[in-house]
Amino acid sequence: MIEDLRRIVSRATDRFTRRYWGLTFRCPVCHFLLAAVDADGNALLVCPVCGVVIEIESVYGHIVPVVHDVEVFRPQPKARVHPLATHLPIGLFPFALFGAVVLFVASLVGGWGAVLGGRAPVLADATLVLLVLAVVGALPTLASGLWDWNRRYRRRPYRQITFKIAGSIVYLAVGALAIALHASGAVFSGATGLMQLGSPLGLLAGVVYLGVLAVAMVVVATLGHVGGTLVFGR
Ligand SMILES: [Zn+2]
Repeated sequence: MIEDLRRIVSRATDRFTRRYWGLTFRCPVCHFLLAAVDADGNALLVCPVCGVVIEIESVYGHIVPVVHDVEVFRPQPKARVHPLATHLPIGLFPFALFGAVVLFVASLVGGWGAVLGGRAPVLADATLVLLVLAVVGALPTLASGLWDWNRRYRRRPYRQITFKIAGSIVYLAVGALAIALHASGAVFSGATGLMQLGSPLGLLAGVVYLGVLAVAMVVVATLGHVGGTLVFGR
């Protein structure tokens, strides 16, 4: 089943890459995946990972990347804020999701609520705190990422970076929605700390809340993956 899931994900990723990345090729030096559309008017492109200057030649419709040079001045501070800051949302969000899932299961199975021993309200509060930290923590991550793009990549267009900026905005929006749902009291009962799955409205609120968290999890994991390729290469 995991194999099937992996195949579905990889097929969807391939289709998306073809659509959004367009014609792609690999950097001849570090093998990082590059999009031909990111080249400038002179068909030149600087690899964001290894910094070589590549000229894209088209031979019978095939892309032939020719390495000309290595970018001479490349700001490369040893400890960059962005890759460090990114661990705040990526590190904390899964725990917020875990807390929400435990509370959902406890609310679903009557006996399980007792296992928490009346500590469900504490767990619900802890989940909210983690959620707020994971979403608010994405703000310095986005800001330092934009700073890096400005300084290190000189605002050159890279498919990976525009994708990450768009994805961060989606994550912030979806994360804010999850916080609003949690804090509104529509999902969790203040008295028991459990989801009110017995009533149709409570069930709807619980399902929407979990769905929103799942979307945010997929988005933040994808952002982390794409960001990782910019740090570690392909
Ligand atoms: Zn390269």
